Amino acid sequence: MSLFTKIINRELPSDIVYEQSDIIVIKDINPQAKTHLLIIPKKEISTINDLEEIDRPLISEMFFVAKKVAKDLNIDEWYKLNFNVWKKWWQEVMHIHLHLLSNI
Ligand code: AMP
Repeated sequence: MSLFTKIINRELPSDIVYEQSDIIVIKDINPQAKTHLLIIPKKEISTINDLEEIDRPLISEMFFVAKKVAKDLNIDEWYKLNFNVWKKWWQEVMHIHLHLLSNI
């Protein structure tokens, strides 16, 4: 079970910003910007490389959640979104997550 699945199951604490049936948004524990959120699907998928056809709507929904949260937090004038995919170094948690960063 991934760290993020434990957070989703409330087995580990986190600062939850937004939640819907298939996606949760939490504050990154080690923020790299004034606002640093993680948009995480509840379905545990290791990396973008592991996506399957069935995941197409879920990935799309993650971007709509990013848009909604940025708007709700009034940071929608400037933010960036990124997925890290490099198993050896950059991807720390093997459960896909979209980083949303803003310095507004
Ligand atoms: P990545 O390098 O894309 O795998 O990023 C993983 C992110 O998860 C990092 O930015 C970490 O700071 C963040 N992170 C790790 N553990 C936690 C946690 N318990 N709660 C919130 N964010 C976390």
